[in-house]
Amino acid sequence: MEYAIAIDVGGNQIKYALVSRSGTIGYESIKTIKQPGRHQHVIDLLKQIVTEAQAYANATKWRVTGIGIGVPSLVEKGVVLFANNLPELDNINLETLMSDFSRLRVRVANDADLMGLGEVRYGNAGDISDAIFLTIGTGIGGALILNKQLYNGYKNRGGELGHIIIDQHGIPCSCGARGCLEAYASVNALTNQYRELLVASQHPMPPTVDGRYIFNRYLASEKEAVAVMQRHFGWLATGIVSLIHIFAPQQVIIGGGISEAGEDYIDPIRRLAYAAAMKESACFTHIVAASLGNKAGYLGAAALVFS
Ligand SMILES: [Zn+2]
Repeated sequence: MEYAIAIDVGGNQIKYALVSRSGTIGYESIKTIKQPGRHQHVIDLLKQIVTEAQAYANATKWRVTGIGIGVPSLVEKGVVLFANNLPELDNINLETLMSDFSRLRVRVANDADLMGLGEVRYGNAGDISDAIFLTIGTGIGGALILNKQLYNGYKNRGGELGHIIIDQHGIPCSCGARGCLEAYASVNALTNQYRELLVASQHPMPPTVDGRYIFNRYLASEKEAVAVMQRHFGWLATGIVSLIHIFAPQQVIIGGGISEAGEDYIDPIRRLAYAAAMKESACFTHIVAASLGNKAGYLGAAALVFS
């Protein structure tokens, strides 16, 4: 059997697996990044992971085809650009470095891109060629899959779907622009909006406020949670309508922890988006929840190896 060593590097941990061409996960594990920013720490962990996965594959007589790695950064020709959370990877050609170490072909790409690719190749998306993937988390990441391939614009500088602008004079975004979708509709933005509303209504502050908590309060019809969730749905729908008008994808796939709430989360977004979109443009687009959860990143890394 042919397997890929598939690695998903996050800000705090590295998830990895041996994945077959058909998407079967043969072996999977996680390593924690204990000293982010320390020189060589993440690279040492990556080398350990490759050694461990190769040993496992050898012992089980699997052939390793190559290595796919997702990183939270723009990537151009194997070079990691602007890795905000992992500065030690900045400007490093991770493809060359890991290929020299392992003697295998290595492909490196942006993590949100790989999640999108994973959903299209191995998720419930089915056999589709054009999809837009959005992951709603601390920020909003995204991927454009056109004609079954990732599309990122000239020199891989595009595909920043969280930074489409939905308000010209809007609030500042972490990217330096104003009014980006991410600044309004990320889970970070949602929790800030909810906290502000609780303070304004002199409501006691719960010890932990996260996306799951707010969504549960919304389902329980709490006034403040309903107010922030309705605005959240509206902003996401606004961004999605623009993306549908440009790309008319077969699917808009929505991922991230909060999307695991399923139809209760997706349906309001879907209804608002269809109501606002040009009918002729949106008529073939399905808006659906992602299906691979936190495995999407490394499954996409495997898809990259086998593509
Ligand atoms: Zn932005």
